[in-house]
Amino acid sequence: MTLRSWGQLPTAPSCDERWWSDRTKLLPDVEGTMLAYGNGRSYGDVGLNRDGMLLHTRGLDRFIAFDETTGVLTCEAGVLLSEILDVFVPRGWFLPVTPGTRFVTVGGAIANDVHSKNHHGAGTFGRHVLRFELLRSDGTRLVCSPAENTDWFSATIAGLGLTGLISWVEMELKRIPGVGMDVVNTRFAGLDEFFALNAEAESKHEYTVAWIDCLASTPRGIFMAGDHLPDSGFAMNAKTPLNVPLTPPLSLINGLSLSAFNLAYYHRPLPARHVVHYAPYFYPLDGVLHWNRIYGPRGFYQYQFVMPMTAREALDEVFKCISDSGQGSFLAVLKTFGEHTSPGMLSFPMPGATLALDFPNGGRPTRALFERLDAIVNAAEGRLYAAKDARMSRDFFQRSYPRLSEFVPYIDPKFSSDFARRVLEC
Ligand SMILES: Cc1cc2nc3c(=O)[nH]c(=O)nc-3n(C[C@H](O)[C@H](O)[C@H](O)COP(=O)(O)OP(=O)(O)OC[C@H]3O[C@@H](n4cnc5c(N)ncnc54)[C@H](O)[C@@H]3O)c2cc1C
Repeated sequence: MTLRSWGQLPTAPSCDERWWSDRTKLLPDVEGTMLAYGNGRSYGDVGLNRDGMLLHTRGLDRFIAFDETTGVLTCEAGVLLSEILDVFVPRGWFLPVTPGTRFVTVGGAIANDVHSKNHHGAGTFGRHVLRFELLRSDGTRLVCSPAENTDWFSATIAGLGLTGLISWVEMELKRIPGVGMDVVNTRFAGLDEFFALNAEAESKHEYTVAWIDCLASTPRGIFMAGDHLPDSGFAMNAKTPLNVPLTPPLSLINGLSLSAFNLAYYHRPLPARHVVHYAPYFYPLDGVLHWNRIYGPRGFYQYQFVMPMTAREALDEVFKCISDSGQGSFLAVLKTFGEHTSPGMLSFPMPGATLALDFPNGGRPTRALFERLDAIVNAAEGRLYAAKDARMSRDFFQRSYPRLSEFVPYIDPKFSSDFARRVLEC
């Protein structure tokens, strides 16, 4: 079977796949290498293992225990965040940190130490993980927490699946007053306005994020701040999503459709304040299943970087470079990371501004743009996000993750991925 990751880039010709559903079992004794596969929501090759084995973890889908007084949930690592929400939102609990899609597994959320719109208050997903069990290829089972096997704990959070397979997890949920979100929208023009709005909003609101039109000569966008609201009359669970049933022969995203979309989106009638269900606020893209197919058979790249706040000029340069290239992204998201230290040795977030952009795979011109962007991000001492990456160089990765040499000894000798072979040679 040919597995692709979320970016649908033509990769990984074939690999051996095994369904994994019994958390008490030992890992298989393989000739080559293996890797856990969550729900395939990473954009690049971090979850692929060409010619090796992939262990599908969605069979590890059981809830094990829940403490109604503390919100501590124990579940298997293949449980989806959407399954947690479906069960626990009606009881008044929510995820402490959630990425922009709820269709990721708990194991996948740990392996990339995912972040959300509340990074300034909550830090990354890994900060809310209390314990997990790690299975190693030599048959060892390690229970890891901030107090026990602590080095394995911080190697496995953001460990890109390379330290072994996480079988079960104990994590905190947080109390919410209801399913609704109170959202304040503000249009902005220019990065100075964005940073001013953001500084004020972070002191008042739990969640902050901005959509940004990077094709405009001066970047402009819509800043969205949100907070959970007491019950607002919404149905508990999200609506059934629409679907893109097949991949069109050509990408539906091109310069013309992008400019038209960005213009219309920026100028659409926008209430200054409104109340919405949590699902469209946190997961607007989950409203259309398989939306990644609209990019056609050549797929698309996501480019996400973070750079320190002090690198303001570099951020201006990034926008200029994208605008000059004419290769915009209609899903550009700009936000800031706060001061919380991430628990993983290879966690992506660091204090600064992060921008995520989707680009149709236009071949050489797209790759040339990425090289120009890499040079700016690198000079600004920023880094790229492995969960979104399919092409960064070994040199860039090794220079931008300062705890890499500390991490390497924890790699399981029987685990590997296409990403690891590209950036780590293992
Ligand atoms: C629309 C969209 C929006 C997104 N928004 C965000 C966002 O806001 N913030 C953010 O941080 N990320 C975001 N992401 C990225 C996504 O959250 C991560 O890529 C996540 O890791 C995907 O989880 P998954 O279960 O699909 O795992 P996969 O993509 O299948 O695998 C990811 C990694 O996890 C490892 N892994 C999976 N399960 C286990 C396990 N049981 N044990 C050990 N390793 C395991 C795999 O080996 C692989 O290295 C977004 C992705 C999409 C598609």
